Amino acid sequence: MARADDIQPISPIGMTLEAFVAACADEGVGAGRAKDAYQAVYRDGIEHAAPAQITPPTIVKRHEEPVNEGVTIKFVQRLPNPEHRLKHRGIDFDDIESVIIPMIGRSGRKTHTLCVSSQVGCAMGCDFCETAQMGLIRSLSAAEIVGQWWAACHLEGIEIDNIVFMGMGEPLDNLDEVLSAIECLTDRSGASIPMANITISTVGRVDGLERIKEQVQKPGWKRLGLALSLNASNDESRSQLMPINNKWNMKDLQRILQELRVVRGGRKIMIEYVLIPGVNDSLTNADELADWMSPFLKDPTRKKAKGHGGLLNVIPYNPRRDSPWPAPTEEQVDRFVDRLVSHGVFVNRRRTKGRDTMAACGQLGTAEIRKRQIVPLTSSSQRD
Ligand code: SF4
Repeated sequence: MARADDIQPISPIGMTLEAFVAACADEGVGAGRAKDAYQAVYRDGIEHAAPAQITPPTIVKRHEEPVNEGVTIKFVQRLPNPEHRLKHRGIDFDDIESVIIPMIGRSGRKTHTLCVSSQVGCAMGCDFCETAQMGLIRSLSAAEIVGQWWAACHLEGIEIDNIVFMGMGEPLDNLDEVLSAIECLTDRSGASIPMANITISTVGRVDGLERIKEQVQKPGWKRLGLALSLNASNDESRSQLMPINNKWNMKDLQRILQELRVVRGGRKIMIEYVLIPGVNDSLTNADELADWMSPFLKDPTRKKAKGHGGLLNVIPYNPRRDSPWPAPTEEQVDRFVDRLVSHGVFVNRRRTKGRDTMAACGQLGTAEIRKRQIVPLTSSSQRD
C-alpha cells in the first residue's frame, strides 16, 4: 500500500471511475480507496482527497438573471490555453461560458439544465450566431467539459438535472472528447446524470451523426438526446445562414435523422428553428418546413401505431451584437407557429428567458469573451 505522501495526485475530472481506479492502481493505490476519493471529488466537491486532487476552475465573470422559473446563471471560466495561440497578444488563457437554466418539469418539479460549451469559439460560421464571430480557438478536453458540470454543482451549488451541448462550439467537431465527457457524466459513481437527460445539439455534421448512429447502438447510449439546429426551410437559405449546408444539405439531414430514429427505437429528435424576421419567417417558409418535417410525423418503427419522431422548437431570434436582423414580434411568431400547427407539425414555442441562452447551439459568446481575444485581463473583467 502506497503512503499518501508518495502518491502522485491524479485529477479524476473527465475520467470514469474505472479509468481513475486504473490510474490509481499504477500508483499502488487500491480500488476501494480510489473509489472513495473519486466520490469525494464528484459528489462532495472536495478538491483534495488523496490520491485525487483537482484544480478548481477560476470563475472570472458571472451574471444572474431572474426568469419566471427562478434564476438563470451564466458563468465564465478562465482556462489555461495549452497551445498559447494568443500569447503573442499577451493572452495565454481561454474563457468559456456555461449557463444554468431553471425549468419547471412536467410534474411541476423545478429542475436545472446546464448548457455546456464543447469548444472555445466555433469554426462553423453560422451567420446568426454570436460564437461564430470568434472563429475556432480550440476544442475543449473531456476534463474541461466535465469541469463545467463540477463548477455548476460545487461552485454555484446547483444540483444539475440535465445537460445540453448547446454552448460554444459544434459538439460533433470535437466528438471524441464530447463522448468521453458523456461517459464520465453518466458514471453512476460520480456525476450520475441519466443518459436520457443529456442532449447533443448539432448544426448537422452528417459524418458526426453517422458516428452517433454507431454510438447509440452501444449498451447504455440509446437514450442519448439529439437536437438538430435547422433554422431554414430550404437549401438556398440554409446555405446562406449555415455554411455547413453546402457540404450536407437538408436531404442528407432527413436521411440520417430517419436512420437515427430507427436505431434509437423511434425516439424523438428535437429540431431547432431560430425564427429570424425577413429571413425564414414567411408562410412559404412554414409550408416548406412542414413538408421537410413530414417524414418525422410518422413512426417508422411502428407500422400501425400513431406517433411522431420530430418535435420542432421555434425560438424567437435574439439579435447578436451588430445583427442585421431584429427580434421577431409576437405576431410574427404566432403566425408562423399557427401555420405549422395547421400542417400537423408538433411545435414547441420557446419562450425567451433573458437572452434565451438555450437558443439552439451557440448563441453564447459575450462582448467580453469576444473582446478577450485582444484585451488582456483587467480588473473590470473580474467576477462581479
Ligand atoms: S450556431 Fe453552433 S455551430 Fe453555428 S457557429 Fe454558432 S456555435 Fe457554431
